[in-house]
Amino acid sequence: MQKGPSEGDLASSCPAFAAGTPASSAGVLVNELPQSLSIAELVIAGLANGQLWILEAGPVWAGYGTLKPCVVCRVKIADDEIQYDVVGPRGSVPVHVKCYRSWRVRSNKLRRST
Ligand SMILES: [Zn+2]
Repeated sequence: MQKGPSEGDLASSCPAFAAGTPASSAGVLVNELPQSLSIAELVIAGLANGQLWILEAGPVWAGYGTLKPCVVCRVKIADDEIQYDVVGPRGSVPVHVKCYRSWRVRSNKLRRST
């Protein structure tokens, strides 16, 4: 004997449950709560809204963080993290190494596709 009704209940409650959980792949058009986005998404959003540009040259400076906000994720770069300074249209800006890497990868892709 199968327990038809209970199986049916489970199946019908599943979609509702899934809809209630926050989908991380939702939208990219978010300018607040940067920690809810991955670095790759922040890079894409930054390139789209003009905050970032396609990287050409490498960093002009590397060292411990100077507690300035990273241009990609806007989180302060702590003095026990490595910071890169990159020069762009608006002068040199600080960026986390991990953010720089993601930015670099995206820049390389964009440069090749154009
Ligand atoms: Zn960062």
